[in-house]
This record gives sequence, C-alpha cells and structure tokens, in this order.
Amino acid sequence: MEKLITGIHHITALASNPQKNVDFYTGVLGLRLVKKTINFDSPDVYHFYFGDEVGTPGTILTFFPFEGATRGQKGVGETTFSAFSIPKASVSFWHDRLKKLDITVSTPISRFGDEVLRFEDHDGMGIELVATDVDSRKGWTYGPIPLEHSIRGFHSATLNLRSKELTSSLLTEAMDYVFIGEENNRFRYGTNGEPGDIVDIVINQPATRSIQSAGTVHHIAFRTANQASQLKVQQVLGDFGQQVTEVKDRNYFKSIYFREPGGILFEVATDEPGFAIDEEIGHLGENLKLPDWAEPKREVISKNLAAITLDPKKYD
Ligand code: ZN
Repeated sequence: MEKLITGIHHITALASNPQKNVDFYTGVLGLRLVKKTINFDSPDVYHFYFGDEVGTPGTILTFFPFEGATRGQKGVGETTFSAFSIPKASVSFWHDRLKKLDITVSTPISRFGDEVLRFEDHDGMGIELVATDVDSRKGWTYGPIPLEHSIRGFHSATLNLRSKELTSSLLTEAMDYVFIGEENNRFRYGTNGEPGDIVDIVINQPATRSIQSAGTVHHIAFRTANQASQLKVQQVLGDFGQQVTEVKDRNYFKSIYFREPGGILFEVATDEPGFAIDEEIGHLGENLKLPDWAEPKREVISKNLAAITLDPKKYD
C-alpha cells in the first residue's frame, strides 16, 4: 500500500536572539533562509525557515526566536538532536570548520555504520551531522560551504523518551514507519530507511522531562503529499486513538498536530504548496512575508520585530 507519510517535513525549535539564529544557520551551516515570516499563533515573534535552495520538505529547520528567552533543558519527551546529512567524505571539513569557529564539536561518533558529529548552537540546540554516501540530494550553497560538502537535508531526528513501546506502535501502526534496527539503546525507524525519513528513539530512564525554551525543539513535522493524503492520515490517527487537531493553514503547507504518547508534539504537514507561493525563488527569505490576515497590520508587526541582516559570508 502506498505510504501516506514519507519522512520528516520540518523540525521547529525555539531560539533567543534572532540575528544570532540567522547567522548560525546561514553563516555557520550554510543553509538558506527560505522564509522570514511571523509565528502565526504569536505575531510579535519571527518564524524563520532554513533549508535548501527552495526549502524542500525534509530539509527545513525552523525557529521561533524569542529575544531574551532563557535556555531550555534537554530531557525526555523531546526531540533532542536534529541530524543533517553530509557527504561521507566531508567529516573532517565540518569538524575543522566548527572548531575554527570555536564551536565545541564531538569527535566522530559511530552510529549504524555512519560517522556522526555532534554539537550545539549558541542556544544549546542539539545538532548532528551524519556522514553518509547513500543520500542522492544535491545540497545547496550560496558561498560559505563548498557544494561538495554542503548539507543535503535532514538525516534523522532523535526522540528522547522514557520508554519506546507506545511511540513505536504509533510510528509503525499509524504512521507508515517500520522498525529498522537497534544499536546502543537507539531504536531506528524509517519510512524507507533513507536520509530524511529516519527517526531514532533513545530511551532514558530515569530522566527528567525537558524544559521547553531557547535551544529546544518545539515539534517535529512529518510529511504527506497533499491535503487529500493529510485527511487520510488524520483519520488513521484518530482511529488509532490519537487526539488530532483540525487542519491549520500555515500558508506554505497545511498542518495537523497531535501529541505522541511520550509527550513530543508531532505534526503532519503537506508537501504542497511550498515556499515559492509568495516570493520568487531567487529572492526567498529576503523580505518579511505575512499571511493575508496579518497584512493589514504589517506596519505594527514590523515595528515589533528587530531588524535582521542576512550575511551568509560572515563566517567564510
Ligand atoms: Zn511545524
């Protein structure tokens, strides 16, 4: 049967200073700011989307930067590490680059046969780079990172949980995931088992619950093709016993939300329509974009947001 869910769509996290956030993900990691908009549920806060050239689903890390926010704390009931995919031969390039920029980075960790670099952004947000030769996505560069070493998109995400049974059932019985394997208390699931569709459950017991603030993930979104498949997913999840929200219009995709049994907020977002609906691809992320309902309040909204400069070559 055709899968309704085909991997990770985006991951959304909380941050503090918006300028530092933009500088890190464009300047240090070389992602593109594909959309500068507002938090639709809290219009006085930015919503930044970082990804590949067009913000392809499976490449998009997004942030709500709350200036002055205190640091959150990693714990259970949280996506603790968001992992990007890099080419197999790029480990030393990235290790050297991060060290040169004074970012504390792990030595390569071995995981399911791949080498993994682990580090945090200035807010403590957990990022990993997984070096793999099975990723056919071409990556993206506008300068700071040579294309040959560029990030290809997400590889996977770590769901940090107290136990895995209920979440595992949800993934495999209602979300088109299959169990792939276990290594060192890390249980891997994938829709195809390819970079961009993998989630790992790591069990921490006993462990404290995460405290959500700057540097922690707010939710992880899984991708589905379109509104018709999304409605089917909503039905399947409801039949499985999940409390799922109504469909919300996020302008660049449609979303439904639910909390998985371990406490992590899950979303299922459509691949359609994408980020080119209100900006030319050549100019994505350059101007503040607002949904139609917020457009009449543009002046007030803009005044409440700190001005941001985009300088991807800052850390060249
Ligand atoms: Zn989302």
